[in-house]
Amino acid sequence: PTYSSVSKVDVLIIGAGPAGLMCALWMARLGVNARVVEKRATPVSAGQADGIQSRTFEILDSFGLDQVWRESTHVKEATFWDPDENGKIHRSSRVPNSMKGLSRFDCTGTIHQGVIESFLIQAIRASASVPSHPEVIIEGNITPSSLHIDETLIDDQDAYPVMVTLKHFDDASVVDAKSRGNIDESLHKTSFGDDDSKPKYLQNAQPGAEELVLAKYFVGCDGAHSWVRKALGQEFRLRGETTEAIWGAMDIIPVTDFPDIRVRSMVRSTSGGSLMMIPRENKLVRLYIQLTDGLSTNCLLTRSMVTPEMLIETAQRILSPYTIDFTYIHWWSAYQIVQRSGDHFDKQGRIFLAGDAVHTHSPKAGQGMNVSMQDTYNLGWKIGLACKGLVRPTAIIPTYDMERKLVAKELIAFDRKFSELLSMHSAKDISESSVELKQFFKKAPLFTTGIGVNYASSILTVVDDEAYGLAKYTVPGKRFASCQVTNHSDGRVWELHHRMPSDGRFRIMVFGGNIADAEQRFGVNTLGQWLGKTLIPRYPPINICPIVDRRLQTVRFQSELMTPIIEIFLVHTAPRDQIDVLRDVDSTYHPWHPKLGWDYDHIFTASRVATQDNIQLTQSVYRDYGIDEERGAVVLVRPDGYVGMVTSVAAKEARTKICNWFDSLLQGLDN
Ligand code: FAD
Repeated sequence: PTYSSVSKVDVLIIGAGPAGLMCALWMARLGVNARVVEKRATPVSAGQADGIQSRTFEILDSFGLDQVWRESTHVKEATFWDPDENGKIHRSSRVPNSMKGLSRFDCTGTIHQGVIESFLIQAIRASASVPSHPEVIIEGNITPSSLHIDETLIDDQDAYPVMVTLKHFDDASVVDAKSRGNIDESLHKTSFGDDDSKPKYLQNAQPGAEELVLAKYFVGCDGAHSWVRKALGQEFRLRGETTEAIWGAMDIIPVTDFPDIRVRSMVRSTSGGSLMMIPRENKLVRLYIQLTDGLSTNCLLTRSMVTPEMLIETAQRILSPYTIDFTYIHWWSAYQIVQRSGDHFDKQGRIFLAGDAVHTHSPKAGQGMNVSMQDTYNLGWKIGLACKGLVRPTAIIPTYDMERKLVAKELIAFDRKFSELLSMHSAKDISESSVELKQFFKKAPLFTTGIGVNYASSILTVVDDEAYGLAKYTVPGKRFASCQVTNHSDGRVWELHHRMPSDGRFRIMVFGGNIADAEQRFGVNTLGQWLGKTLIPRYPPINICPIVDRRLQTVRFQSELMTPIIEIFLVHTAPRDQIDVLRDVDSTYHPWHPKLGWDYDHIFTASRVATQDNIQLTQSVYRDYGIDEERGAVVLVRPDGYVGMVTSVAAKEARTKICNWFDSLLQGLDN
């Protein structure tokens, strides 16, 4: 065939939904040559996801996207409404909508998916301001039409074994309602200003043009009806169930006397089924309304018969004797619950599936957008650092399939149970399952917040007894939690996460314990010397993107953007006045820069500034991590913020362990 162009790209991403954009953001921050192609012309403007969970807030914040938390509605509470003995609904309990202490983002936030996509796009575009970073372009009105992998090139890390044909369209021929749920265009309005303010994807080629792209890595983030998944064949088919139950979803500004309209409420009635409501931004409320249970043999309703009038009438029946109507409907849809996931997320370490393309489930638990972004948050740094020649791809890349497949399976199991408990019809069923639903909901945040994710033991995650003994609550495979620490030099209190942005670096957190004790200080300094003189020089440096650093208020000279791929922090428990950094602490923890002098940004104390309640915080930081305040521990953190390994400060074997871990993951300078 004749192509309008033939080009090479390191990473080709199909689909600019949450999964595709999160992948693209990693590429933009790491400075990887990548393209995103999308069949729509603009981001989604109504409907779909609106729930952001704690771990997703942490991830977005690690890219500097803290506005998502500020601008979303915080859903602090949930209520349960069940029928009383006369069949009338009443509030049977009110509970917190999260679990205390899981994250500093302590509840679900609601904000429309299109807003999240716009923030991600802005962040991707902003990253291009770094001269050494190629711009990651998002192009609209394109779909792939063929996919081929040249197996003879798979093992060659410099080769481009994935061949993809892309077809360009014009605006009119692309909108396929099926791929974005069942959206009625006549009701479809935008929640973020007029249409001109929406970012538009680029259109780089003439409609009708067909181009050939050769890629090192190819990521299918093209949603539930994924073309990429189908192109990969039977082996990649999703497995699971489609239930017959039909649910409706609508975003409305409600007019109602129902008292809990601004709280997440789960209402189970005998008069008309179940309903869940979730407060949103701009006075909107999302309603999920059960239309059929899919079990009654006389149930003739199909999705295409559903109308907004039918949805609000059903809601009125369920909420009776309370009333509900709307003055404004923003979006509505009807869906059947499909709970399926794939057995493979990866083909030969070169082609990947992520997000809805590889797992689908009901939207009520507010998981899809979160788990989809978390998939590519897991994948992005692995393929990005592989493209830059910094990590060993054959070691690291297979962990994507291993780690995320398990999360998808857990998600489907969770969703099945949640949907089942919400879909009760008879008074007897509702009453028998009432305690179970509340208990399920109480434990759910461990899963739904994303904080409970615990990646299994692998080359990336060293799970051993030593780890448990040294840092009881800092578990390899779980995300490294944020705690507040005080900068040793200037006394400013920081969230540790703010010092650890997503920029591709691994981190060694040396919890040095009480370095006022000479022996302990000797151990910390010996370790520091070895880290600085032996470990760090083994690996090539990384060119980091300064954008995420804005909040860190650090001056960065161009030459300083090239920095070791391992960043080292020291968090100790000694009283600040007993330690003079330049005199007492090895310079690995406060390196010298010819233009900037000594670094004062990497040594923290677990004790608060002298004017405040000293003892409280000293205890809490180390206690939160489960680390001994005298002996300390060393925690190795992956670029995605998950704990890779825990070892001791002083033991000589610890150095061998640390070295082996990095050698197995990073390309060395001598090979
Ligand atoms: P998508 O968002 O579907 O993005 C895929 C992208 O690929 C789209 O832009 C599409 O146009 C593009 N594409 C598709 N095919 C092609 C092709 N052949 N070529 C090029 N581009 C293509 N999730 C939550 O987390 N919280 C919620 O509260 C929530 N509520 C929901 C409510 C409803 C009613 C629905 C339908 C979904 C809800 N979800 C929710 C789920 C959430 O919307 C999805 O899980 C999420 O959008 C998945 O992201 P994704 O990037 O994998 O796929």
